[in-house]
Amino acid sequence: MDKPKFKRVMLKLSGEALTGEKGYGIDFKFTNKISEQIKALIDMGIEVGAVVGGGNIWRGRSGSGMDRTTADYMGMLATCINALALQDSLEQIGVNTRVQTAIEMKEVAEPFIRRRAMRHLEKDRVVIFAAGTGNPYFSTDTCAALRAAEIEADVILLAKKVDGVYDKDPYKYEGAKKYDKLSYIEVLEKGLQVMDSTATSLCMDNNIPILVFGLDKPENIIRAVKGEPIGTLVSNLD
Ligand code: UDP
Repeated sequence: MDKPKFKRVMLKLSGEALTGEKGYGIDFKFTNKISEQIKALIDMGIEVGAVVGGGNIWRGRSGSGMDRTTADYMGMLATCINALALQDSLEQIGVNTRVQTAIEMKEVAEPFIRRRAMRHLEKDRVVIFAAGTGNPYFSTDTCAALRAAEIEADVILLAKKVDGVYDKDPYKYEGAKKYDKLSYIEVLEKGLQVMDSTATSLCMDNNIPILVFGLDKPENIIRAVKGEPIGTLVSNLD
């Protein structure tokens, strides 16, 4: 088997990644497929942190007319629902997990404690970071960047609907061109839809590479850690 390229990864799944074909909520068949890939990573000796979004349930910016802060707290709670779904799916196939939340809910999950998270990772437990950063006006992409820096992850594996970063929306424009590699600055200057600018800047400042790839095939997670040329790599390009 090819040697994995990374020792510790931060997997960022958007909420949409859990919807599969359903378009809303959680598709357990698809979630279970993702879990099998995460299990394969653990079996390869890779330590896995995961951040799940909440967009399949609720987004703060959804134009509901609500107070933004309240709407964002609803979004953070949505990520907790997804985190528990992923936890259950992983544990059903024998993967040890811990959910750590940025908003305390001690009956449901552990609070985020970095040193504890590191220990869990060393013991091959998948740590799922829920409730984003715990702050409104942020995103789960920023949470992935922040936690990746904190747990000293080698890379952020950014699983998307699209199979990489394009110059234009490939769903709308036929001739859209996919990038193999990009620098953070290019992403920011061109306004490319990778992560939001706060998350991208955090990765840039802390030199955390982001590998963007498509989750249409869950086995792409394994291909990504083996260093196969899939998706788009965003880094300092040195
Ligand atoms: N959110 C937040 N602070 C955070 C992370 C998330 O306020 O640190 C809220 C925000 O309202 C966001 C929602 O949670 O719209 C769901 O997260 P996100 O949109 O990042 O999910 P994804 O698009 O990855 O599914």
